[in-house]
Amino acid sequence: MEDLKELSRIAEAATPGPWEKYDLPVAVANSNFTIHAPNAVGVPTWTTALPPEIASTLKAEDAEFVATFDPPTVLALLSRLEQAEQAVARVSEYHRREEVRDVFGDHQVRCAGCFEWWPCTTARALDGDR
Ligand SMILES: [Zn+2]
Repeated sequence: MEDLKELSRIAEAATPGPWEKYDLPVAVANSNFTIHAPNAVGVPTWTTALPPEIASTLKAEDAEFVATFDPPTVLALLSRLEQAEQAVARVSEYHRREEVRDVFGDHQVRCAGCFEWWPCTTARALDGDR
């Protein structure tokens, strides 16, 4: 998977959305739909000019998918992913492995955050275990 910053760069460089799937009144290049994206605020939309060899094989669901995942949507998803990764990192820093000696001098491995035996419930959940 590409680095998230590279995905953000690609989305930011594309024509801003919202993009829309547009049903054409007549088929053009064997396709009854296309994708519209605004050229700029207040400027009429432009239509993607798909070559016939692509337009003839593009499914309506594909056009809907591309229009739905337009640059603002991708950037919002990437932002939410980054926030979620940062939250996981904060929780992982709190619930970390810690080696200690108990009052009898015995070696113990516990969670530094919640003091459960290591791995604690939270650490197991973060690793995908229940
Ligand atoms: Zn813990």
